[in-house]
Amino acid sequence: MAPVAPLDLLDLDALVGEEERAIRETVRRLVDERLRPEIPGWYERGDTPVRELAQEFGSLGLLGMHLTGYGCAGTSATAYGLACLELEAGDSGLRSIVSVQGSLAMFAIWKHGSEQQRQEWLPRLASGEAIGCFGLTEPDFGSDPGGMRTRARKDGSDWVLDGSKMWITNGSVADVAVVWARTDSSEGGAIRGFVVPTDTPGFSAPEIKQKLSLRASVTSELVMEGVRLPEDAVLPEVTGLRGPLSCLTEARFGIIFGSMGAARDCLEATISYVRDRQVFGRPLAAYQLTQAKLADMVVELDKGVLLALHLAALKDGTVGDRGLRAEAISIGKLNNTREAIAIARECRTLLGANGITLDYPLLRHANNLESVLTYEGTAEVHQLVLGQALTGESAFR
Ligand code: FAD
Repeated sequence: MAPVAPLDLLDLDALVGEEERAIRETVRRLVDERLRPEIPGWYERGDTPVRELAQEFGSLGLLGMHLTGYGCAGTSATAYGLACLELEAGDSGLRSIVSVQGSLAMFAIWKHGSEQQRQEWLPRLASGEAIGCFGLTEPDFGSDPGGMRTRARKDGSDWVLDGSKMWITNGSVADVAVVWARTDSSEGGAIRGFVVPTDTPGFSAPEIKQKLSLRASVTSELVMEGVRLPEDAVLPEVTGLRGPLSCLTEARFGIIFGSMGAARDCLEATISYVRDRQVFGRPLAAYQLTQAKLADMVVELDKGVLLALHLAALKDGTVGDRGLRAEAISIGKLNNTREAIAIARECRTLLGANGITLDYPLLRHANNLESVLTYEGTAEVHQLVLGQALTGESAFR
């Protein structure tokens, strides 16, 4: 049988530097050799060992890897994206650990925190000794976080937080939560970020069970009942929704790469399967209908990776001088998550009944991608961002 062509038919590797390739290979090896055999069990039982994994990721310098100082690796955005791609080729839950820790919790403190907050938390978060989470979404406010009900009031010099957050990745295992809350009108009534050690009295984080998506990831509610924090718990450098949105932009960048990792894994597993599977006396791979599906999927995969690498080059400043615009991130998040889930579902059809089991990664990836399509701005929210950029009209409300 002829060898299977690598899926990078555009030779996109030529856009990737040597150091970035080395980082990518390290992560790919970790996923293939150590994590991949464990993933179906973690997914089925819903018991991923987040703390152990965080330490392992930390020892490889993957946590907050694109940040500088405070024990962070200071890699390029391209390297960070490629690491996300390889992790999500394993499972979206693995990439979520790295995204939430590095791009949400650590980035919030790195970008908007005081020097004292950075010194206290970033080295421990970078090494994986501590785990962070990021609480923005509430039971009644997801796409519209500006409506949040969580309140921060002043009592003497202390802050007191009351409210709840929902769907928070790593909430139950976190040592520190970055929580966004609206301050009292006497304090300006603005949204502010707070660094909340999770052992503070009044804070609890019950895990959300019975998920059918991202089962190899911990998702939690955060409940805050009179959580008393010192005056310096507030992130001093940002006020308003700009704060959490700046962090979401970082995390969306990782998803643009990660979703293509899940898609690549689906396509690799499927090509290997259809070459072996005999239907009507011939390999499934030899039928035109199969090849048309595979061809359409590799086109979308390679286009998606090309898009991701272009956005990374803009972010790294190796292309252009305007940086990475929010609209460009929306194009990437909308396209790559939408195409990834379409690829996962199409691959599942090619495996027939085998495609619905955990023996193959397809339905697991497809189910995970339902969450990936939803978090960090739903597909519809990114359509609205782009619609506004094109027309000047906001259709959000
Ligand atoms: P809604 O906002 O209620 O949206 C429901 C539907 O309405 C969607 O289709 C949406 O696109 C559509 N819609 C919304 N507004 C409009 C509009 N103006 N016009 C037309 N349609 C609209 N959040 C965190 O803060 N931290 C985390 O760590 C985190 N982790 C998550 C992990 C998982 C597994 C999941 C599933 C979610 C996580 N989230 C997290 C929450 C996630 O960001 C929200 O689910 C997401 O923002 C959507 O909010 P929602 O679920 O409330 O949906």
